[in-house]
Amino acid sequence: CGIVGVLGQHEVAPMLVEALRRMEYRGYDSAGIATLQDSRLDRRRAAGKLVELSDLLVHDPLPGKIGIGHTRWATHGAPTVGNAHPHRAGPVAVVHNGIIENFRDLRAELAAVGLTSSTDTDTETVALLAQHHMAQGLDPVAAARRTVDRLDGAFALCFLFDGHPDLIVAARRGSPLAIGHGEGEMFVGSDAIALAPLTNRLTYLEEGDFAVLTRDGVEITDTAGTPVAREMRTLAPDT
Ligand code: GLU
Repeated sequence: CGIVGVLGQHEVAPMLVEALRRMEYRGYDSAGIATLQDSRLDRRRAAGKLVELSDLLVHDPLPGKIGIGHTRWATHGAPTVGNAHPHRAGPVAVVHNGIIENFRDLRAELAAVGLTSSTDTDTETVALLAQHHMAQGLDPVAAARRTVDRLDGAFALCFLFDGHPDLIVAARRGSPLAIGHGEGEMFVGSDAIALAPLTNRLTYLEEGDFAVLTRDGVEITDTAGTPVAREMRTLAPDT
């Protein structure tokens, strides 16, 4: 299970797949990526090994210079294509490692306002909740913040938004996430190994951190919503 996000200057699908490949050692049962092409959100997912996803991308490419990717180790819902991440609800795509403990309550709440789940996963609830908050008029960052504030459990999350080609939101509670700094590019990933080919300048998110990434950089806030400074480390080139 691993997460990656890229705000790039070039096609990101190959970068996302390579980063996922570097996290194969963690184990997984399915994989997927989502990108924005001309600001439009689209995704490709496959059950099984990463080669299934890369084969799919050969026949059905996914262009775009911003995207998120995921290898899944199923906790809620069988390891099928339909349950693979990224999960999508309206304008929102989400990748998630971990478990949302209160997803059943949230799912019931969302169903009551007409937002029904189409998968068996806890993760889809996160996408639906963010969609719900955007439909109420919140911008993507505020919608993601309010969504994360409602979640119980341990997780790492990345959000990608239709119509917002310079924005990835990431949140960490219980599962590690690192922000990678490039030249006019920004990255996020579950570990340094995933990001090693892309950058050696990393900022590790701390517990409860919420990060807003654009190609210009990252703004990090803590659980209270207060801006925080997190140290950037430059790793040795061979790590
Ligand atoms: N709980 C989520 C699922 O089953 C995420 C699992 C993971 O960490 O890969 O889809």
